[in-house]
Amino acid sequence: MKKIIKAMPLLMATMGLASPVMAGVHWGYEGEATPENWAKLTPEYQMCDLGRNQSPVNISGAIKAQVTDLEIHYGETSGNIVNNGHTIQINEKNPNDYVVVNGEKYTLVQFHFHAPSENEINGESFPLEGHFVHKNDKGELLVMAIMFEEGDKNPVVEKFLSILSEEEEVPVDFDKINIAAFLPKSTGYYRFSGSLTTPPCTEGVTWVILKDTMTLSKDEIEKFEHEFKHHNNRPIQPLHGRLIISN
Ligand SMILES: [Zn+2]
Repeated sequence: MKKIIKAMPLLMATMGLASPVMAGVHWGYEGEATPENWAKLTPEYQMCDLGRNQSPVNISGAIKAQVTDLEIHYGETSGNIVNNGHTIQINEKNPNDYVVVNGEKYTLVQFHFHAPSENEINGESFPLEGHFVHKNDKGELLVMAIMFEEGDKNPVVEKFLSILSEEEEVPVDFDKINIAAFLPKSTGYYRFSGSLTTPPCTEGVTWVILKDTMTLSKDEIEKFEHEFKHHNNRPIQPLHGRLIISN
């Protein structure tokens, strides 16, 4: 069973375009390349240890603020889906899905999943967390996270899992799947400044975590866990005095 996870160059990572075929330093979630050791693997990953605004975090003590509502403009999308060796990732072909936060528009580039969840809400972990990675015109990243609980099955997840290749690193194209069906009804959210949760742990990432959750069936959760082969969640990082805003 192949379990080699390669690092992606900084530029690719910040663009949210993980490329497992690029050469680099191996990192992962098990053995010597475990999250505690990422910063020791190469100087390029030093932020994983040195950073003071790292993700994921446990969301607690959020401050209610007068912030503008989150607008989510998701619809039918086309692209490809791949198990890239550390997650199941969906890459947008012609990015036209976007969110508006604080008047700033961020376009969806890719989304992927972690099991169990990386972030926690008041100490609560969830079976799965979806990360929707967006970028604005200045190249700044915003990750919108959606938590999934066990419950009814999720038709969109079902569709994506059904077309996923059995093999790693084999992208499968898809056409016109409505990803709006991923979204919970309410757009209440927590917001804070954080980082990529994978090497090189680059900071300056805006995190928006939806309060409302979605559901997945037990079968769907198990399918993700089977694909990942092991947990792919980085441990909780200290807040170091960061503020968490909620609407
Ligand atoms: Zn992620």
